[in-house]
This record gives sequence, structure tokens and C-alpha cells, in this order.
Amino acid sequence: MAYPGDGMVRGEIDVAALTAGVAAGDRRALARAITLVESGRADHRAQALDLLGRLRGAVPGRQALRLGLSGTPGVGKSTFIESFGLMLTGQGKRVAVLAVDPSSARSGGSILGDKTRMERLSRDPQAFIRPSPSQAQMGGVARRTREAVALCEAAGFDLVLIETVGVGQSETVVSELCDLFLLLLAPAGGDELQGVKRGIMEMADLILVNKADGDLKPAALRTMADYAGALRLLRRRPQDPEGFPKALCVSALETSGLTAAWEEMQALALWRQQNGHWTARRAAQARHWFEEEVRQGLLSALTRDPARRRMEELGQAVTQGALTPEAAAADLLRNLT
Ligand code: GDP
Repeated sequence: MAYPGDGMVRGEIDVAALTAGVAAGDRRALARAITLVESGRADHRAQALDLLGRLRGAVPGRQALRLGLSGTPGVGKSTFIESFGLMLTGQGKRVAVLAVDPSSARSGGSILGDKTRMERLSRDPQAFIRPSPSQAQMGGVARRTREAVALCEAAGFDLVLIETVGVGQSETVVSELCDLFLLLLAPAGGDELQGVKRGIMEMADLILVNKADGDLKPAALRTMADYAGALRLLRRRPQDPEGFPKALCVSALETSGLTAAWEEMQALALWRQQNGHWTARRAAQARHWFEEEVRQGLLSALTRDPARRRMEELGQAVTQGALTPEAAAADLLRNLT
């Protein structure tokens, strides 16, 4: 099936055809749809919203398990995603992989910039891998990823993996996008525990100590025990059953521990579903993103006329002492639409 606007989004876009393609799980249609939501053009934005609205009607209630995955470069994220993804596609599941990072944060440029990243998974017909977006600004990346997650879900993927390099801000974004948050760590040589910021520890649902193989295995087991201890000291969160968050050992390279990790993820997801936390989390996230959109919308309105011009005039009035900063701000905000 051909979709208008192949490659880049240009010319006329048949939103109805794109809706049908995405709903049917067509990966090319999905790629095109993501390109559309990434576009900065105002007419594309309107079509993107149209598409997302139509999909809600076309495939109501379709849900994927949204998994966030974070870890510093070199910890083994791509190796893990490849092994874990292949395990799941081997079980008949459809797996989508998205990245949340300003492209500048990744030396390779995009998630597929380095050809060796997830090579086998990217060839798997049951998988869909989307490179990092090109905009380097976190606000834009967040919106694009959120909409890309919705598109993957509408396309019938069972699992959407949202990957991020641990650069602070991006973890917060990912935790607002996912149902479960995984933190991938490497075996530590010594007192590396404090290297992981407390805030990130508190976001994690599962800590996976990777590279638990060969010579690194004893260090991996020690690191896992250290983190298990640290997790026990954290305040128990209402959205967790007894024993969570947990620390486990895996080897992405040898594909060991992956089944156990998957079982833990499913057990946690099920418990949250049965206890209302799943829906509550998604509802809170939807509200968060609504407020964020409003904030971004207001900020961008300020950079456009007539608000921009009015701001300049009022700014001058404030400098000249004709208006107080408070009165000028109130004037601007009152007339901001
Ligand atoms: P990323 O930067 O987090 O995506 O890390 P990569 O997946 O590219 O892995 C970085 C390096 O760690 C590569 O040389 C991998 O082969 C190696 N690696 C990844 N997973 C494992 C593992 O489970 N065991 C061992 N021994 N090495 C691993």
C-alpha cells in the first residue's frame, strides 16, 4: 500500500488512508504517521491531531505495555533491547522501540546511526524501531515521543519500549510516558551506588544489573545485593506490591535472566491493573501532558505577534517606570489568546 508523503511528509496527506494503515498494523504507515507528528508545520500539526483522533475511534481501548528503559552509555541498553525484544517477538509479541533523547546526547546521532545497534531486531517483522527525533529540544522530543507511543499502541504493538540515555531530564520525561520504568546498571567495581541519583532510584520499578556473565558475574551479584538493600530503604510506594521495586541480574549478551525479568514486569503490571494503579497512572500522565501542552502553547504564543509586540511595548513601559512589572504582566496575560 502506498502512502502519500513517502519519506518526508510533503504534499497532500490522506489522513483516512494513514489511519487505516496504522490501525492495520502496517509498519510503513506507522513510520509515516510518526514523521507527521514530528513535523513542525502548522498544517501537519492539524493533520496529526486529526489522525490521532481518528485512531482513537478506529481502535478504541487498544493498549500496549509501555516500558521505559534508562541507563548510561555503554551499560548495554541496545544489547538488552535486542535480546529482550527478540525473546518477546519469539513469543509472538509485537515490539516497538522508541528513543527519547535530544540527538546531540547520543554520539551516533540516531538510534540506528550505529549500524550494529539492534541489527537483528530491526530486521524482525514483528518489531518496529524508530530512530531518535532530530529536534534537540526536550519539549519537542517529549511531545513527539508521546504521540509516537500512541501511534504504536494504535498499530497493535503489545509492547512499546521507550529508551533513554541517563541524562537527568530525559528520565523524568520517560517516567511520565511509561507504565513500568526499568533502570539498567553495570556491575560496579566499588562504591558506585551513590552514582545513581536518588530521584532516579525512586522512579525505577526494576533495577537490572546487566553483564552478569563471565568474570563480571560476582561483581554483578554484589551490585544487585547493594541495590536491593538500597531499595528496601526507600519509602514503600502505594503503587507497588510487597517486594517492589526489585533489583535483578541479567546478561543481555548471554540472554540470561531475561525470562525472570519479564515475569517480574508482568507480575507488577498485573498487580497494578488489578489494584487500579495502572489506570490512575495513565490518567495522571494524561493530565500532566495536558498541562505541559498548555504551558508550551502559552510560551510559543508569547514568541508570536500580537503577544510578542505587546510584550515589547509593555516591557518598555516598565523600563520607563510608566507601569509596574506586575501591572504590565497582568495586562499582557489578560489579553493573551
Ligand atoms: P548502550 O550504549 O547502553 O546501548 O550499550 P551497548 O548495548 O552498545 O553495549 C555496550 C558494550 O557492552 C558492548 O560492547 C556490548 O557488547 C557490551 N555488553 C552489553 N551487554 C552485555 C552483557 O550482558 N555482558 C557483557 N559481558 N557485555 C555486554
